[in-house]
Amino acid sequence: MARCRPRCSKADCKQWTKQNALLLATVAGVVLGVVLGIAMREANLSKLDIKYFSFPGELLLRMLKMIIVPLIICSLITGVATLEGRASGKLGLRTIIYYMGTTLLAVILGIVLVVSINPGRYGRNSVSSGSNDLQVEPVDAILDLIRNAFPENLVEACFSKIKSVRVPIMVDRNVTMIYQINSTAIPGGATTVPVKTNTMVVEKEVVGDYKLIIESKSGVNVLGLIVFCLTFGLIIGKMENEGKILVDFFVAFNEAIMRIVYIIIWYSPVGICFLIASKIMEMDRPEEILTQLGLYMATVIVGLFIHGLIFLPLLYLIFVRKNPITYIVGVSQALLTALATASSSATLPVTIKCLETNNKVDRRVVRLVLPVGATINMDGTALYEAVAAIFIAQSNNIYLNFGQIVVVSITATAASIGAAGVPQAGLVTLLIVMAAVGLPAEDIELILAIDWLLDRFRTTINVLGDSIGAGIIAHLSRDDLKDIDKEDPKVPRKGTDNFGYENEEDTHV
Ligand code: ASP
Repeated sequence: MARCRPRCSKADCKQWTKQNALLLATVAGVVLGVVLGIAMREANLSKLDIKYFSFPGELLLRMLKMIIVPLIICSLITGVATLEGRASGKLGLRTIIYYMGTTLLAVILGIVLVVSINPGRYGRNSVSSGSNDLQVEPVDAILDLIRNAFPENLVEACFSKIKSVRVPIMVDRNVTMIYQINSTAIPGGATTVPVKTNTMVVEKEVVGDYKLIIESKSGVNVLGLIVFCLTFGLIIGKMENEGKILVDFFVAFNEAIMRIVYIIIWYSPVGICFLIASKIMEMDRPEEILTQLGLYMATVIVGLFIHGLIFLPLLYLIFVRKNPITYIVGVSQALLTALATASSSATLPVTIKCLETNNKVDRRVVRLVLPVGATINMDGTALYEAVAAIFIAQSNNIYLNFGQIVVVSITATAASIGAAGVPQAGLVTLLIVMAAVGLPAEDIELILAIDWLLDRFRTTINVLGDSIGAGIIAHLSRDDLKDIDKEDPKVPRKGTDNFGYENEEDTHV
């Protein structure tokens, strides 16, 4: 009887395991995190105990956040400085077209799904009329985005950004004097005498005008850093010999940062396990929430899956003509990190490492396209915002006409660009979409309970969108990149191995 020959030898298996040890450890971290989280729910730990329990996860987040600012600065500067002017212009144009195109595609998909599934049909059947405390003016949000792109102070941009607040102007309307007769004791005597005092009573009137107060809030102003670094990189790249010392400095700086990233990445499976376990332990009444919001959740998740597993891979296949599955497997560690951290910015170091090391995407493209993508290209967030806004309208029995749906699609695209790559940023910018179609802002509470979970899925798709984009853009720009290599063969372009040393393999083009 013919015996089935094993497809790979023991040595091959060993080699494969060695090569993919990090990925295997990360997958194990996720599975262990889920199991641990479910098991530990039984222990009914207090909020404080859960916080202590999640300490190894908190450490991972702190390490990733620590590296974001230097990583963005040096990777963007080296990215543009090592590209020739015309090539970076073309690459920039391709990047913008890809970002806008895929985001709009995600929004349209979300709208089609939410309108056809109609998850809000079991809604509350009444229009809520709450306060407008949370109201966000779309125009202010867009102007804030532009303000943040030009920070007044670069050092401050590393830890704070701008947010404007409208405060109603009040004028004094009626000023009334109230005279009172008080009794005052005469010093030394027992008798008191009446004394006349007065109090001013001022009635305030809102005049219907507003003051715009520009406040700063904590968080890295990534957009401001991007604009400065792109300009700076472009200029030192054009300065030829005079700028060479600066380019060399940032190239070396970048390499040093990437070596720190590799150390952090080896710790990530442990951190991921604890982040996931503690989130599961924190969940309040999961069964109740899932039955109430199950259909809405399913709509978002189905949309994210269609976009991430069908549309984006199809685009990769059409443009690059290579197997998208192999490419996605190459970035799977970044996808798992996104799932655990719910932050595209925190995942950025891992995404850069996966694309350079596993997928061999040209380094210059990776370092230019990814930091920008992690900040402004959020397909998952855009899809989610469109679904959430329409779901809230459906739950309130508010009919949105075609014009309003178009407004939802445009504002959801803009809001996803404005959302920072941090946990639940999309929930805040959703207020812009809701304001644009007149939905009550406080109704955001309808979807609050499960946002943390959807955030993880949409962040994963955000990271996948950036990664596939880098692959497509590198492929489309291959001729321009080859021209630069011919002119200046010393420009760093190779991928790096797991330890940060350059390897000699060809780049993915
Ligand atoms: N957490 C998402 C991200 O970092 C943003 C969002 O809240 O949608 O990509």
